Amino acid sequence: MIINLNENIFFEIKEYYLSQIITPVKEQYKAERAKDPKNILFDYLKEENLKEIIVGKIYDNKVWKFIDNYRKTMCLAYLDINNNGHVQTTWKYIKENNIPLFSSTQKNEQYIELRRYLFSKYNNTLVQDALGQNIDYTNSFNSFKVMQNHIKDYFYEMNQILEKIFDYNFIKKAGLRSEILSSTKINICPYCNRQFINSYEVKESLRVSAHLDHFYPKSKFPLFALSLYNFIPSCAHCNSILKRDKVLDFVYPINNKNNMEKVFFEVSCNNYRQLVGLEEPQIKIKKNNITNFDEAFSRNFIELFRIESIYEFHKDFVKNLKLKENMLEDNYKDWLESILKINISYSSYYYLIFGYEYNEEELFNRPLSKLVHDTVFNA
Ligand SMILES: [Zn+2]
Repeated sequence: MIINLNENIFFEIKEYYLSQIITPVKEQYKAERAKDPKNILFDYLKEENLKEIIVGKIYDNKVWKFIDNYRKTMCLAYLDINNNGHVQTTWKYIKENNIPLFSSTQKNEQYIELRRYLFSKYNNTLVQDALGQNIDYTNSFNSFKVMQNHIKDYFYEMNQILEKIFDYNFIKKAGLRSEILSSTKINICPYCNRQFINSYEVKESLRVSAHLDHFYPKSKFPLFALSLYNFIPSCAHCNSILKRDKVLDFVYPINNKNNMEKVFFEVSCNNYRQLVGLEEPQIKIKKNNITNFDEAFSRNFIELFRIESIYEFHKDFVKNLKLKENMLEDNYKDWLESILKINISYSSYYYLIFGYEYNEEELFNRPLSKLVHDTVFNA
């Protein structure tokens, strides 16, 4: 992710959302349990757990282990390792950047290492339940696929029932979509940081120009179809053209760790030829601390959302920022202060020149604010 979302984004809507959703979910739960009480699902899922699924964390949940295990299990089952945007790209990236991850120099053995890493990352008691005896599924691409199909089959019926219990139509019926989206106060798509996704009113009814992305697609993770923490407000392009229901290995975006400096734009537009337009400025995505597989895998995010290609378009914008940087001179500031007969703080001065402020809220309210941050404020 180029920016990440704070855990309190749902603070305002949480209680109200729960009050609207819990009743139909409970009713549905009871109806499904009455139909098939022996289904393995009901060994795991008790009525008192429903609340935690709806408004609890879905990543690294400390209250109820099942949530994390389910997430990992479905990730492993549906991980698109055939996709060029996934393992292939990561592998290429690791190679190009000389990231010392593999003990082997043989390409085939490196793939085995990669699959072994993925398996151990997502392995848990649910996976063990599904696979039974210990077989090594990482030796070939085909055996990895076999393993994935085993898990899918084992949880097929359970997922069918979950789909009925956590029915996304409950949100539509209660008219909650717009309310969830506007309560997050995120006005710019957090995936691309380019498109406005604000709310507005038509005849006193709330509308939003955003999509409600299920970070873990509801078709593959039906347990999370109504989970508040699975909802990412996003633009139509990121949600329905690029991401859709793909399951790739990249960082879950809602956490309180500041990733601002971890993934950043590196802009080169310093020489005269670039500034006057004889040569194109360059915009690259860079990452700090690429020390393990996870870091390398977050490359998937950049590939999935086509960040580097899409940002090619903003070279002109970057050039403008760089030209304006020439105004960051004390003489010019003094001159401006003497004409306007006021004192100008440095933050207002920056705002005056670039049209952006340097604070975290800006990231969710102004398009391209991350690019500005990395180009101007953090260069
Ligand atoms: Zn977007």
